[in-house]
Amino acid sequence: MNAPETKSSPLLGVADARALMLSHACALPPETVPLSPSALGRVLADALVSDRDLPPADRSAMDGYAVRCADLPEGRAILPVLEEITAGRVPQHALRPGFASRIMTGAPLPPGADAVVVVERTRLLDDGRAQIEDRPPRPGQNVMPRGKEMRTGDVILPAGTLLRPPEIGLLATLGQAAVRVVPAPRVAILSTGDEVVEPDQEPGPGQIRNSNGPMLVAQAERAGAVVRYLGIARDRLDSLRPKIEDGLGDDVLVLSGGVSAGTLDLVPGALRELGVVAHLHKVEMKPGKPVFFGTRGRTLVFGLPGNPVSSLVCFELFLRPALRRLAGHAEPGPPTVSALLAADYAYRTDRPTYHPARLDATSEGWRVRAVPWLGSADLRALSQANALLVLPAGDHRHQAGQAFSVVRLDF
Ligand code: AMP
Ligand code: MG
Repeated sequence: MNAPETKSSPLLGVADARALMLSHACALPPETVPLSPSALGRVLADALVSDRDLPPADRSAMDGYAVRCADLPEGRAILPVLEEITAGRVPQHALRPGFASRIMTGAPLPPGADAVVVVERTRLLDDGRAQIEDRPPRPGQNVMPRGKEMRTGDVILPAGTLLRPPEIGLLATLGQAAVRVVPAPRVAILSTGDEVVEPDQEPGPGQIRNSNGPMLVAQAERAGAVVRYLGIARDRLDSLRPKIEDGLGDDVLVLSGGVSAGTLDLVPGALRELGVVAHLHKVEMKPGKPVFFGTRGRTLVFGLPGNPVSSLVCFELFLRPALRRLAGHAEPGPPTVSALLAADYAYRTDRPTYHPARLDATSEGWRVRAVPWLGSADLRALSQANALLVLPAGDHRHQAGQAFSVVRLDF
């Protein structure tokens, strides 16, 4: 049932395995969604171009008086006030020499004015004139000229832009009440195993609670997916088949358990029987070696090993990047930093190992230390961790201060 492991085809490493998986993952076809709140966190499908100059006219950047610099060679004058121009109003008068107009932030500058003196440098006299005491103004002072922020035809947001709150505001500025974005991938999650019971059940002899189902749902949610939980399939083809078929209707099907070499590890066979093309089975890594990847049509299928840490690590290293690709992100991740080992650390392993670790930002940069870990079933260790320390195969005495690649889990 497993892909044959021969000497002529060594297992792929994590980076190559991820590259292979990502080669099957491209951005989902765009959809149009209302700007707020649906577009938040999505990736823009098309470039957005400005339909107008912004500001549309020379505009005051401050509350104060619109003036002519020529009237204030020393920065001091007492000027009669022509009018008050508030934001949203159009000036009624051109500014003649020797006059000022009261102006508010965002209001268009009257013709003839070339600067704004802030209100704090002025005093309104009883006779209605404005007394100005400031440094001599420069032309353009406190004025945002027409088209300075954007010009008609400028590309404001290129396709592929992640829509965060500032981009949502910009899209609103551009008049986009609805926007074409790459949708969130739909992900189905299926636990497998005769021994697995849901968390609200009392485990009988030989049974364990289903940690992977809720955990993978949470990981997928956090990765921005629209998640459907399909429950637990038993280790029988008649139980696996209908649930797999159901999950194959989504963009991604994630199974946990049943992909190793045990007699009841039926998942790869069941997937193949239902038309899933296997691209990869097993990766040179610890934990997570038995991971399976295939596709049926556009659906990506990930079979994650049942041990909870294996499932979690495979999700972060493979699934999350694939989900980011489907969602249109340019950088699939996983987010990796180089960190210095905080203390000497001896470690022996036969495969590159993604060890639960604590990553801290210090004044001297990233520091990392492995947390105690009993292996792929020990999810408790991950509760102490916020990262995975990538350790090379072999018997090593790693020195404090040595640099390691570290995959971030919390971000
Ligand atoms: P498997 O990959 O099916 O061989 O499972 C490997 C180990 O993970 C076994 O000890 C299983 O009992 C355990 N396991 C499988 N599925 C789950 C699950 N959903 N939650 C917690 N442990 C699981
Ligand atoms: Mg199993």
